[in-house]
Amino acid sequence: MADVPSYPDVIIVGGGIIGLSAAWRLLQDGAEVVVLDPAPGTGASHAAAGMLAPIHEAYWGESHILELNLAASQAWPAFADSLGADAVDYRRDGMLMAAYDADDKALLDNLGDLHEQEGLPVERLRSRECRAREPLLAPGVRGGVYSPLDHQVNPRRVVAELLNRVPTIPVSATEVSRNQVVASDGHTVTGQQVVVAAGAWSGRLLGVPIRPIKGQILRLSGPEGLLQLPVRGVVRGSSVYAVPRSDGEIVVGATQEEQGFDTRVTAGGVYELLRDVLTLLPGLSEIDLVETWAGLRPGAPDNAPIIGTGRDGIVYATGHYRNGILTAPITAIAIAALVQGHEPPMDLSRFSPDRFRDDPTDDALRPEHLSGVTA
Ligand SMILES: Cc1cc2nc3c(=O)[nH]c(=O)nc-3n(C[C@H](O)[C@H](O)[C@H](O)COP(=O)(O)OP(=O)(O)OC[C@H]3O[C@@H](n4cnc5c(N)ncnc54)[C@H](O)[C@@H]3O)c2cc1C
Repeated sequence: MADVPSYPDVIIVGGGIIGLSAAWRLLQDGAEVVVLDPAPGTGASHAAAGMLAPIHEAYWGESHILELNLAASQAWPAFADSLGADAVDYRRDGMLMAAYDADDKALLDNLGDLHEQEGLPVERLRSRECRAREPLLAPGVRGGVYSPLDHQVNPRRVVAELLNRVPTIPVSATEVSRNQVVASDGHTVTGQQVVVAAGAWSGRLLGVPIRPIKGQILRLSGPEGLLQLPVRGVVRGSSVYAVPRSDGEIVVGATQEEQGFDTRVTAGGVYELLRDVLTLLPGLSEIDLVETWAGLRPGAPDNAPIIGTGRDGIVYATGHYRNGILTAPITAIAIAALVQGHEPPMDLSRFSPDRFRDDPTDDALRPEHLSGVTA
């Protein structure tokens, strides 16, 4: 196999935003790193909208995920600077969540109670105040929540910048252990430590119940500044969002579907997204629809990522589900700390790879998690 260092410090399996960010962190710390991936940057990270939204991604019963997401948000400015904040279109304009009808407003009020309980900095807005912040919103919008802490980035540009900095080898891993990877071309790569960051495919390599959660997503293109703020809407009970980029692109997403490794874009998926976004933001109806896409989010049964060293000695960095773009920098810091034997930046016990086993010394997954294993 060409260009593989003879005994790298770290071999990372998977070149999505998680594997590449961890590699970039380790390279900055002076480690010798190689990333193995037959098609780096083409997974979920290519689909993602790029919302960096700890507040609007807060849900009841997930305080440990909220804590991670808030820490991730704080890690973003330095991470963006390390790649060039303008190059990756990192923007800190805040985000607006809008409710279309009275039932949607009740749902938003319920989330508002959570925000209050957690002491999160948000502003509850009346209909007119929503439209003052984002004039493209439909006049009927009932109210909303503005969150200054929710930011955004262009994930495709982040991945492109990372790929300029991180060495990758175009092979796929078929077997992994603590310090060895067997590649699809028959070669074995040996190093100091293996990290697996293979997104939705991680369950094929590791004994963890990671499953793919499909998201269909659209890209529209219009005049720069047409939509001023990223908007998340609840429209007659369905969720939709529109994220504007500096160059006039507007990303509209996303469906959440549980149907295995299927990345077809369907008429129904596109219809639902356009129906909801045009109800919320009717002014988008005249601009171009330039791309339809689908990606697979890596999801664990408890919605939390898997970050840590397993009892097999492998370092796990997967299961980032809806927030892998947001949590890439903090995951990278945590993985670098684990690999280098330093204290991680936060308590990772709730994200342990062994949390799905009754007995962490036993290989067997708990029965309720067996169906999620795709190997
Ligand atoms: C429609 C959609 C919208 C989203 N929007 C957002 C958002 O706004 N904000 C946010 O924070 N997150 C968002 N996400 C979630 C985010 O995209 C993911 O959590 C994140 O991209 C996961 O990154 P990853 O590197 O783990 O996986 P991926 O990007 O999927 O990368 C995994 C990589 O592993 C490689 N691989 C697989 N098997 C092997 C193997 N055997 N050997 C070697 N390599 C292998 C694949 O080729 C791939 O490149 C969204 C996701 C989707 C689908």
